[in-house]
Amino acid sequence: MKILVIGGMHGNEPLGIQVVKKLKNKNNSIDTIVGNELAVKAKKRFIERDLNRVFPGDIRSKDYELKRAGQIVELCSNYDIVIDFHNTHCPENDCSFIGDKAKPLLRNASAFFGLNRVIVANYDCLNKYAPNCISVEVSLGSTMMNVDWWVDKITELAKAKNISVDKNQITLYEFVYRISLEDSKRLKLEAKALKAFKPISRKIADGLGVESPAYPIFIADKYTPYNFGGLLTKKSMYNKEQV
Ligand SMILES: [Zn+2]
Repeated sequence: MKILVIGGMHGNEPLGIQVVKKLKNKNNSIDTIVGNELAVKAKKRFIERDLNRVFPGDIRSKDYELKRAGQIVELCSNYDIVIDFHNTHCPENDCSFIGDKAKPLLRNASAFFGLNRVIVANYDCLNKYAPNCISVEVSLGSTMMNVDWWVDKITELAKAKNISVDKNQITLYEFVYRISLEDSKRLKLEAKALKAFKPISRKIADGLGVESPAYPIFIADKYTPYNFGGLLTKKSMYNKEQV
């Protein structure tokens, strides 16, 4: 399988940057890129704009991140699968992200990595525009913060013709809402001790105008201090077959 690995889509998230470095040193057939090179050098999430919110980008743009997004989308089309790495400070938040036009292969890949929670993202991330891109999201305190393990797993995947895993272990979610700092203040969410993937109360869901049950992620993540978190709902079986 022809694989592209992206590290440093956000310049201050360490796992992908280290995985890319290690894969490069192994000099194998897996291609790697650093997503936001300037942000990695500056040890910041982004320079001007969050790269993973400006896809599909524009290769003719003078704006660094817009141009870079355009280049990355073009590059992705040359691969069977693109694996894009992210980290969060929020504990117990390990999961993957795919787009709503994702190839079925991506759900298998997520199960292969042991990431049984798959989120369909609707905002302007790479997944939305690259149907072969899976983003992996690993909590900083997780046992999955293991560079050698990821290097071995990706090397194994590169040698495989297809992935045989039980897809039924996957729970499919949909990203439905970004919780603002104002929302958090209004509903006193900081005092509620929300936990990733543990459903919020119906009262809070109503207060935020989302269906219940809703599942929070990225709660008070220090990487994105301008948001309080994100909210998911489970995707129905009918939709599940579409992804
Ligand atoms: Zn990230």
